[in-house]
Amino acid sequence: MEKYDVIVLGSGPGGYVAAIKAAQKNLKVAIIEKEAIGGVCLNWGCIPTKALLKSAKVYTEFMNAKDYGIKVEEKSTITPDWPSILKRKDRIVRRLTGGVKMLLEKNKVDIYNGEGTIINKHEIKVNDTTLSTKNIIISTGASPILPPIDGLDKAYQDNRLLTSKGMLDIEDIPKNLVIIGGGVIGIEFATIFSSFNTKVTIIERENNILLNVDDDVRENMVKILKKAKITVLTNSTVTKIDESSVIYEDTEGNKQKVDAEKILLSVGMKANNQSFTNLNLQMNKSFVEINEYMETSEKNVYAIGDVTGKMMLAHVASHQGIIAVEHILGNNEEINYNQVPSAIYSFPEIAQIGYTEKEAKEKGLDILVSKFPLQANGKALSANESEGFIKIIASKPYNEIVGVHILADNASDLISEAVMVMKLEGTADEIAKSIHPHPTISEIYHEAALGICDKPIHI
Ligand SMILES: Cc1cc2nc3c(=O)[nH]c(=O)nc-3n(C[C@H](O)[C@H](O)[C@H](O)COP(=O)(O)OP(=O)(O)OC[C@H]3O[C@@H](n4cnc5c(N)ncnc54)[C@H](O)[C@@H]3O)c2cc1C
Repeated sequence: MEKYDVIVLGSGPGGYVAAIKAAQKNLKVAIIEKEAIGGVCLNWGCIPTKALLKSAKVYTEFMNAKDYGIKVEEKSTITPDWPSILKRKDRIVRRLTGGVKMLLEKNKVDIYNGEGTIINKHEIKVNDTTLSTKNIIISTGASPILPPIDGLDKAYQDNRLLTSKGMLDIEDIPKNLVIIGGGVIGIEFATIFSSFNTKVTIIERENNILLNVDDDVRENMVKILKKAKITVLTNSTVTKIDESSVIYEDTEGNKQKVDAEKILLSVGMKANNQSFTNLNLQMNKSFVEINEYMETSEKNVYAIGDVTGKMMLAHVASHQGIIAVEHILGNNEEINYNQVPSAIYSFPEIAQIGYTEKEAKEKGLDILVSKFPLQANGKALSANESEGFIKIIASKPYNEIVGVHILADNASDLISEAVMVMKLEGTADEIAKSIHPHPTISEIYHEAALGICDKPIHI
């Protein structure tokens, strides 16, 4: 029987990073994957959606060419070529997943293709082989919840209702699309398809979309979605899906109908937990309970990434993987989840880290809040991307940065400055005293920080 120091179950951004790290530390490592190397993130999540978003952005820019002084004689000749858009997405995915496979091989990680089942805390079965190991890292990810809605199963079988995975390969751009769930995935797909002129309706059961986002940012995003002609229905519960429409109930109990050529279901995730039921691990609903070192209730069995339900983000999964490996090596490192950035890839993007204003107040922090609009930033104006703002939240008496929220083109890249500042427990004064390059959108940090410790110059 093949014997390992570590066997990693699942090769998403949690699993493959953990496997490479462990191998770099001279441990004997195997990784088991039943579908595709790279997991959801590389194959059906982070990367393919960003490829489609880029095509959507380019199309939008072409349609708005006159804003840049470029004449287009006949706009109707500019059309999205959907099969080519999908081919481009697939090429990018293949390149990245091929790269990850190569990295695993170069680091001498044994790759097993097949469904792994944990027999006990030292043995895993894959295909007809049983592997032995000192440690297990479970990184099996999560899958979309399919709620019990009348007609949902039939619509799913008919390929009219899809999860995000299916949506990435639909045969054509639909005339209309109903998105059930106003979370991050829903907003990303609404952005993609409304850019391609699909009539998009988002139906959300709660009283708001994007519940984890700062109120100011959300209010602005709702306006932006409306401007893009996306219908956002909140306090609305889907009760039935029929042959051509989605039926929902508003707060007064009125039944309404909306046409739906395609339906995207994105109402939440549940852990992929079938492969380790033998271990009887301590669970929190469908998710695996872990401590700060990613240990489960069984010694030498770790869990990382979406299967833990902590923060369902690729970079969190990868970092948890590193922490699990460090713990196997005898080192105790931890994650501060309050210092994890997240992004929503709408047009413009949203990125955030730390507390929202509401959370900071609920924590009883004595805060100062400063906002600076992109309208007053030269680079944003030149790029025709002046919609949005930065909002910095600092805590008295030292003006320590406790939250940063950005609504801007490229906010997902801009947020990294806040990541470093918060990691180093930096203050608004330190940002204000740091020279930012001109002209850049990053200057909004400088101005907003000045708004906390002094006065902004450019407003
Ligand atoms: C549409 C979409 C867009 C997203 N965009 C972003 C984004 O922009 N940024 C971001 O940070 N996050 C994004 N995410 C979330 C991100 O994809 C996940 O947080 C990330 O993939 C979690 O990584 P993981 O390693 O925990 O699991 P996964 O990536 O889900 O990988 C788990 C792997 O385990 C395999 N597996 C499961 N059970 C077994 C078994 N028994 N045997 C063998 N293999 C098994 C699966 O086949 C899968 O490959 C997005 C998600 C979606 C759906």
